[in-house]
Amino acid sequence: MAVERTLSIIKPDATERNITGKIIDKLESAGLRVVAQKRVRWSQAEAEAFYGVHRERPFFNDLVAFMTSGPIVMQVLEGENAVATNREVMGATNPADAAAGTIRKEYAVNIEANSVHGSDSAENAAAEISMCFADSELVG
Ligand code: ADP
Ligand code: MG
Repeated sequence: MAVERTLSIIKPDATERNITGKIIDKLESAGLRVVAQKRVRWSQAEAEAFYGVHRERPFFNDLVAFMTSGPIVMQVLEGENAVATNREVMGATNPADAAAGTIRKEYAVNIEANSVHGSDSAENAAAEISMCFADSELVG
């Protein structure tokens, strides 16, 4: 498997609790390298655009409200098999189902406030990275 990139977001429940460093430690310890990073606060329009694939889901409005409720940390992660590696270290969407040692098992509050986002395919990773970062911000 070649080196690839994926998009990670540390969500407002985690920035609020001041645990971004603990989460980044998990990512780096899994062999992922942060090659771009910025802390921002999304507008409603930005959150709706990012989560557009979920527009028809019953939790969409709540998810947008949550993702705009405080700052987030967006990152591009690089490594062997980065998309799958990141999903593995994140753990299942619902922390109740997440494996021991994963970010969501250790830090998520509930199925919505689950501390991290990670792209779910190489194709979506490329789209999400270009949505969140300019090429000049990918600094290695
Ligand atoms: P993942 O983040 O694991 O890829 P999804 O793409 O299915 O999960 O969902 C996107 C986000 O929407 C989740 O991370 C979570 O914040 C929220 N979410 C998913 N399912 C639910 C649900 N049943 N109730 C409330 N929020 C949810
Ligand atoms: Mg998803």
